Amino acid sequence: MAQSYEIDEKKSLTSKVVTLRIARFNPEKDSDTKFMEFIVNVEKWTTVLEAILDVKQHFDHSVAVRYSCRQATCGSCGMVINGKPRLACFTKVSELQSEVVTVEPMHNFPIIRDLTVRFDRLFNTHHKVKPYLIRDDSEITSNTKEFLQSPEELEQFIQFSNCIKCGLCNSACPTMATDSSFVGPQALAQAYRYVADSRDKGKDTRLKIIDESHGIWRCHFAGSCSQVCPKGVDPAMGIQLLRGYMLGFRS
Ligand code: SF4
Repeated sequence: MAQSYEIDEKKSLTSKVVTLRIARFNPEKDSDTKFMEFIVNVEKWTTVLEAILDVKQHFDHSVAVRYSCRQATCGSCGMVINGKPRLACFTKVSELQSEVVTVEPMHNFPIIRDLTVRFDRLFNTHHKVKPYLIRDDSEITSNTKEFLQSPEELEQFIQFSNCIKCGLCNSACPTMATDSSFVGPQALAQAYRYVADSRDKGKDTRLKIIDESHGIWRCHFAGSCSQVCPKGVDPAMGIQLLRGYMLGFRS
């Protein structure tokens, strides 16, 4: 049975009351997750992150949550909110249209504590696809050459540059849940971002990296990655376009 606490502060004429259910789990001493419930007052503009920080400030400072920019830029505050991976700083309680808001750690990531998860796997897979322009060293160090690009060439990959490495797409991915070695939609989308960049010379290297048993062919095209991205990146489309390169339909 969940514990329930009420914060009797910050009430105003326009505020509403919701129940915030926070998953609590410490892998060093808990055998399973427990939910603590807090009755909080929210305004139309209150974000889920602000509601959680209210709980930390007024009742239980031990709730573990990671955040930084509070403006959907740093990608730190990803969590599962009412069953869907979202950024807590970018999700208003009012838009959930529910009197109960449940927050849990992102799926498919090891839990550090409560709402915080380890990002090692995401950063490793991101690094694995070589997320940078590959050119001959001499071209880069000569400082005599500009790598110009037309608007049409930029258009090929620009949306994929918006990735903030929040991990929401990996959290939503059903293949990530069943294959602990799958490279994942975030890294595949970044592989596409550089493969499609006309200034890059590393296409063959990257396509080889993702053409392995836990690579691109593991994607079953559920499309859930693209549904949750807060930055408008479409990893599912990037994966399909990458397959086009691999099958020789694109060059
Ligand atoms: S593709 Fe979107 S959801 Fe995935 S890590 Fe990047 S910004 Fe986050």
